[in-house]
Amino acid sequence: MGKIFFFIEAKDGELKKISYELANVARQLGEEVCGIFFSPSASIPEGINGLGASRIFSFTAQHGIYACEVIALELVKLIEMEKPDFILFGQTPMGRDLSARLSATLGIGYLNDITGLRKQNGGFIFTKPLYAGKIISEFVFTSPSPSVITVRPNIFNADVQSVSEVNVDTREVNFSSARAIVKEIIAKPVGMVDLKEADIIISGGRGLGDPKGFDVLFDFAKAVGAAVGASRAVVDSGWIDHSHQVGQTGKTVNPSLYIACGISGAIQHLAGMRTSKCIVAINNNPTAPIFKIADYGIVGDLYEVIPLLKRELLKIRGNPQG
Ligand code: FAD
Repeated sequence: MGKIFFFIEAKDGELKKISYELANVARQLGEEVCGIFFSPSASIPEGINGLGASRIFSFTAQHGIYACEVIALELVKLIEMEKPDFILFGQTPMGRDLSARLSATLGIGYLNDITGLRKQNGGFIFTKPLYAGKIISEFVFTSPSPSVITVRPNIFNADVQSVSEVNVDTREVNFSSARAIVKEIIAKPVGMVDLKEADIIISGGRGLGDPKGFDVLFDFAKAVGAAVGASRAVVDSGWIDHSHQVGQTGKTVNPSLYIACGISGAIQHLAGMRTSKCIVAINNNPTAPIFKIADYGIVGDLYEVIPLLKRELLKIRGNPQG
């Protein structure tokens, strides 16, 4: 396999983790790895060399932040000229938007939300979970290349592979023909640490008893540098904002440590966190389904367990005061 393109995402001048993950997937698919970057400002994010791409196609537009149809048309021209085998996007809001339009405009193969791939008979088999992770399905492309793929965040490794020199090809995009332009993005405050980028997540469910229980979780999270997640039951009850929800209809996360506090472990919740590297469950019901997937299970009242856990974690980190 030859040339692979991947779409780079950045925020506030810093590359997002998904960009590194896509670069690593691209390297598994082919030898010539090229990045595509779009930014309203002409500046290239720091650390772009760490993606290991030999070439970066950088698009910039002056009047507006984003216009899917115009950017997709520019990508069509690029792809027709460069003829990559695969174009990879993150399964992110921008990745989903652009990838779908691009594949529809070109009339080419499209597979979304992959979580795995392997080589077979000179081609590739891609895997993705269906029905909230109850089954893992396998796909091969039967259409001629190029093909468009979106990759689920926080699944593939985000190793940095530096190259000494990157050839950046900068192009202007003109938004004047766009029927819809994003002019401004107002971010919702999501707490201390972004859930999708977090290395430690402490999640709370109905077992917290009432919304004030989240004060205990936020305090714990602040002390150990974690993000706070939640089950849908508590989001639906209005105890915490939907931006914290983990699961099938919330966010998919893959931290090093996921601590589920008072969460029963419904399949829809597991769909968003089962790939976490280490899962700790605190639940007062020893038969709660969450224990089936937990690496460490603590049977007990979360309000007794959390202070002890916090104290021990801080001791390990050399900060016994908290
Ligand atoms: P419960 O199931 O009520 O569990 C509470 C747990 O807390 C129990 O296990 C109990 O033993 C324990 N507990 C109680 N008191 C304590 C205590 N003092 N100390 C320790 N443990 C205690 N859910 C999601 O989370 N995310 C989703 O994205 C999502 N999407 C859905 C999509 C669809 C289409 C549907 C139908 C459902 C979805 N759900 C989702 C809901 C899901 O099915 C469950 O209802 C929900 O996850 C349950 O939340 P919970 O674990 O907080 O509550």
